[in-house]
Amino acid sequence: AGSLQGGHSLSEPSARHYSSEPSLQATEENGFKGHSMLAPFTAGWQSTDVHPLVIERSEGSYVYDSNGKKYIDALAGLWCTALGGNEPRLVKAATEQLNKLPFYHSFWNRTTKPSLDLANDILSMFTAREMGKVFFTNSGSEANDSQVKLVWYYNNALGRPDKKKFIARSKSYHGSTLIAASLSGLPALHQKFDLPAPFVLHTDCPHYWRFRLPDETEEEFSTRLANNLENLVLKEGPETIAAFIAEPVMGAGGVILPPKTYFEKIQAVLKKYDILLIADEVITAFGRLGTMFGCDMYNIKPDLVSIAKSNKLGSFAHGFTYSGHPVSCAVAVETLKIYKERNIVEHVNKIAPRFQEGIKAFSGSPIVGEIRGLGLILGTEFVDNKSPNDPFPAEWGVGSIFGAECEKRGMLIRVAGDSIMLSPPLIMTPNEVEEIISKFGDALKATEERIVELK
Ligand code: PLP
Repeated sequence: AGSLQGGHSLSEPSARHYSSEPSLQATEENGFKGHSMLAPFTAGWQSTDVHPLVIERSEGSYVYDSNGKKYIDALAGLWCTALGGNEPRLVKAATEQLNKLPFYHSFWNRTTKPSLDLANDILSMFTAREMGKVFFTNSGSEANDSQVKLVWYYNNALGRPDKKKFIARSKSYHGSTLIAASLSGLPALHQKFDLPAPFVLHTDCPHYWRFRLPDETEEEFSTRLANNLENLVLKEGPETIAAFIAEPVMGAGGVILPPKTYFEKIQAVLKKYDILLIADEVITAFGRLGTMFGCDMYNIKPDLVSIAKSNKLGSFAHGFTYSGHPVSCAVAVETLKIYKERNIVEHVNKIAPRFQEGIKAFSGSPIVGEIRGLGLILGTEFVDNKSPNDPFPAEWGVGSIFGAECEKRGMLIRVAGDSIMLSPPLIMTPNEVEEIISKFGDALKATEERIVELK
């Protein structure tokens, strides 16, 4: 299932806060051999004296570090371990497949049974619109790179060589390879990398709380954004715009829910100008919002979907050695069986209301601007004076302080600047939901106190 889910985002100035407690630090005595690894999305520790938090094992909704300290994993790895850390049936499925056929590829009309089975399962599950084919990649980034190539190939096949530009949105996250980082709308992914690539354009982030005009309703905000999109298309020339890509709920950009009527109005513009819609469901697929896919929640009718995962142009010369890896596919097939047997989406709908309501009850905190979320995904933005226009000084690292306070109390979350995010395992028990709410509240109180000191 590696290609189905994943997650991370902005550069994180949080590493120092995160592992600042001596008891949590990896040391030479407990096996840490120094800074040999260039870690993804990590600012600092590989070149400084700050050591990483080494996670050693997992059990259900919990993980344990190398000192044996237990944490509730309120981000489910990186938005991905929906069934928790060590589901025995998945271990068994992987082991059985490893014993039978550890590897075979899917190039040149050869393939394996687990990848065929998984493709069938996914096609029958995705009902927002009838889909024709599944293409396997190893990551969400590769999935989105593949979408671009697929769309270019398609427009070449149709004799529309100029229809190649992509429109994505500010604050989106679509991955970190060259193309996926270009599509992403986060400056840290562009700066110092000579990105975005010139065929990518960015339009508005649909964050109502932050970007609305005074007295503008959610519906009016959506209309304005759809008009802006249309104006961008007309300015560039509709004959040059190939596709629009969007996460149903923006994840790594800070858990941003679409405002009312947004997707309806955006889809109307796309249809008018024959622009394909790609739904990036790397985070929202498989139940996170309380529907199997984010497209179901928002009535999105995409042409292409990234779920983490022939003709006159000849063969579609694109693919990865490990596309449809039999072991990953066998695990994913078993995962989807478990989803059905245990009614995972129904379970999400049972526990999500308390999770949302319990954490949103902290919205009145003087350091919280907005707490937003749906299902089992939730973001919180820290600002001064409860205003989107009054950020705390960046050097205070308020998000990082909160992350460190959570970590101290045995809870792992995600920090990106002064936004923090939760996306816990879908299998959480009601007690685990209460644990997250309580740790969130305690960490928030400690953060409020720290800000009083800083002020
Ligand atoms: N798209 C979205 C919406 C994501 O959230 C992510 C990762 O979180 C990706 C793409 C990239 O996935 P990966 O890290 O597997 O490349």
